[in-house]
Amino acid sequence: METIIAASQNRGKIMEMEAITKEFGMHILSRGEAGVADVEIIEDGATFEENSLKKAREIMKLCGKATIADDSGVMVDALNGGPGIFSARYAGAECDDKKNRVKLLREMEGVPYEKRTAKFVSVISMVYPCGKEIVARGVCEGHIAFEERGTGGFGYDSLFVPLGYEKTFAELAPSVKNAVSHRANALKQLKVKLEKGND
Ligand code: IMP
Repeated sequence: METIIAASQNRGKIMEMEAITKEFGMHILSRGEAGVADVEIIEDGATFEENSLKKAREIMKLCGKATIADDSGVMVDALNGGPGIFSARYAGAECDDKKNRVKLLREMEGVPYEKRTAKFVSVISMVYPCGKEIVARGVCEGHIAFEERGTGGFGYDSLFVPLGYEKTFAELAPSVKNAVSHRANALKQLKVKLEKGND
């Protein structure tokens, strides 16, 4: 089994990446488990791809081992694609997941369900010490609910209803989210690219 270091510090993301990649023979180690120094990576890229690669490259330099990074966010049509790459910092400097969700609901006040379309995006990068880099993008379409529902997941999960379902990601079983999510789709694409042996 191939051991890969996760650049992310987000427990929710790591758990999902572990659950999905286990099925294709990867073992994900968190930065803490791999003994990587606790550094902050400034996400100053203009795209999910730039931020994802930056995180994977910086952690790979520190640990000298194959590293996987996820940069992700929610893009809401009624907000012209926002918060997008700014999803983690949506509610400002002192934000947290709860404050970000409260702000999103506030910004969406008065928007009817048919116009609450949105998509989650995940860009996964895998960077190797030999210089090889693979980047894969996954998307999950859905709607923004009118209020928070459910206790599972993390981030915006309690507000996101994936297409074809009536429940939010936070109400659905983790196995359902891990089958249809943006992260699952990005990891499936990564697997195809790894098997092809190119990027
Ligand atoms: P990043 O760490 O810059 O990639 O930030 C991602 C942002 O999008 C954070 O606010 C996450 O909570 C949110 N996000 C990404 N993926 C998911 C997901 O699967 N569910 C809920 N929120 C997510």
